[in-house]
Amino acid sequence: MAFYKITYNEKYCFATVHNYGCTFRCPTCSYKLHSGPSGKPGLSFPAPKQYLKTEEIKEALRKLPIKNLYFMGGEPTVAKDLPEILRFAKEELHIGTRLGHTNGSKIPLPFLDGANVGLKAWDEDLHRTITGQERNQIFANVAAAHKVGMNLKINVVYVPGLVDLDQVEDVAAWLASVDKDIPFHIMGYIPVPGQPYPQPTVEQMMMAENLSQRHLQNVASSRLEPDHALSLSERDDRFAVTRIL
Ligand code: SF4
Repeated sequence: MAFYKITYNEKYCFATVHNYGCTFRCPTCSYKLHSGPSGKPGLSFPAPKQYLKTEEIKEALRKLPIKNLYFMGGEPTVAKDLPEILRFAKEELHIGTRLGHTNGSKIPLPFLDGANVGLKAWDEDLHRTITGQERNQIFANVAAAHKVGMNLKINVVYVPGLVDLDQVEDVAAWLASVDKDIPFHIMGYIPVPGQPYPQPTVEQMMMAENLSQRHLQNVASSRLEPDHALSLSERDDRFAVTRIL
């Protein structure tokens, strides 16, 4: 459960530190697209052979012309050296910091500018069933992060038959009670091996977007085919990165 890789995007001058491991156990986790049905969600991607030391990460970042530093991979806040790397990024490199993907279990954090937070469901029982964690703490963390001024973007994965339209709309309604201008992105579920749920249709995605727009000002959606999700770097130059460590 730690950082194991650093990548760099030359065009946009950002580096990403990648973590292995997650605190949730979502059955529909998109990491299963890489790893197949065996293993546990969030941990099913094969474990790295070795992890990076904090000083190695700092040394590599010092050498790069970076404007922003992102943290990705499962749940990046499980990495014990995240607080120190955030401090280093802000106090020594003077760059932006953002969790590129988080389940919201450890925000806000000192020296962290922003986060893309994936909320899983509104119904408390469903949230517990999907993630193994309580809903209320996660949602309270998001509200607290907004209150201290973190730049938030919220997403929810619409999974027909599991996280249905009512869940998407209820999450949107709750988010509007925090701030109706927070960007909200509905992601169409990409079927993973071993799970029975279908991909939402284009029409279903439009319904999800329309329902969310009843509450929020800034709603978008995306619906990727599985092969698109696995070849993002060919379609979007923000994903075109070089491994530097
Ligand atoms: S929180 Fe994200 S990374 Fe973790 S298991 Fe759920 S979908 Fe996967």
